Amino acid sequence: MASYWSDYDFSKIPFSQIQRVGQRSLLYRDLFCVSWLLGRFCNYKCSYCWPYARSDSRDHRPTDLVLATLAEIKKQARERNFNSFHFSFSGGEPTLHPGYLQILGTYAEDTVNCNYQSVHMTTNLSPGLAWFKKYIEVTKGLHRVSLTASHHIEFADRDRFCEKLIFLQENDVQVTINMVMLPDRFEESWERALFFHEKGINVTLKPQSDPTASHVVHGYTDEMCKKLQVGMPQKDYTFDRLRKAKKQSQRPQSPFHLPEFQPSGDKDIPPVMQVEFKDESGKAWYMDQAERFNSFGFNQFKGWECSAGFRSIIIREPDGAIKRSYSCHDEPLGYIDKGFQLFDSPKKCMTPTCVSSADSKIPKRKAGASLPLWPGDETYI
Ligand code: SF4
Repeated sequence: MASYWSDYDFSKIPFSQIQRVGQRSLLYRDLFCVSWLLGRFCNYKCSYCWPYARSDSRDHRPTDLVLATLAEIKKQARERNFNSFHFSFSGGEPTLHPGYLQILGTYAEDTVNCNYQSVHMTTNLSPGLAWFKKYIEVTKGLHRVSLTASHHIEFADRDRFCEKLIFLQENDVQVTINMVMLPDRFEESWERALFFHEKGINVTLKPQSDPTASHVVHGYTDEMCKKLQVGMPQKDYTFDRLRKAKKQSQRPQSPFHLPEFQPSGDKDIPPVMQVEFKDESGKAWYMDQAERFNSFGFNQFKGWECSAGFRSIIIREPDGAIKRSYSCHDEPLGYIDKGFQLFDSPKKCMTPTCVSSADSKIPKRKAGASLPLWPGDETYI
């Protein structure tokens, strides 16, 4: 049975002394990152879902407009010397966009022109296995395919949910279950999370945010906080699943490799460390995923120099705004139906709290830091 405590103790990270933070795939690759909320239409109606986050009406933009926007994003990113891409689609439920598989297929076809391409989606996993077979087929040319499955206790059948995730792992898709740990249902959610973890599926434990998504709600005990901070480290379970089936990944290999990370003292499956921190002495620290930042209160970057808007954007509905990030108070960079312009360089953060992991993982450094914003980039020292 896999351990559900991280051997690498994230609570030792000296957060107050951190000078730079960023997702390693952004620090060490020419990666441009897009987080795209395709519409709010959803086939579930969970009791805890915020009213602004979902809709009963089909509100998707036409597929042609989505594809034209995708091409424009790549054009502007390439003008800024980024030719690796990570697109992350969410909703509502993104798989309900009528052109979703076509959008993914068009994106994947361009991989031959890129240094690296990956795709992610956040889904309630409601499509059947036949749909997921098509999804696997259209994304097979990408360097990495991942998804976060939001597990809704009220709707999803636990065993069918598990069966679909294992099928995806067997087909070289990285999967994580998103579990919002409500303070008043913490134990029930923890038990459910353990069930999945013991099946060899990553679970992301998320603290609940307030309705404005600016703060974590009150009500977590110290023990609950500890579980959120260091519980259930992310592991490369998909690799493990393929290895056990004596299969090898058939995905193309990118010439851009991330530097090796050797975790200390872990067992069979080392944790996957997605995030790198550098402290004042230049020492590197690591975390499996940026989703944990909120549980450490590491989400205030006002005055830091941030590359969101220069090497990453978010797109959200219902207004089709294209913004630096979800949390940012900056004016939008444009709108999906009117056009947009990326920043020409990183800019200072003017926002009190950066609560979304899509935002906090984008490379940023403290004012006055002597490190470059990412290794090897002397332009933004
Ligand atoms: S709120 Fe926006 S500008 Fe500030 S750190 Fe987060 S992503 Fe960067």
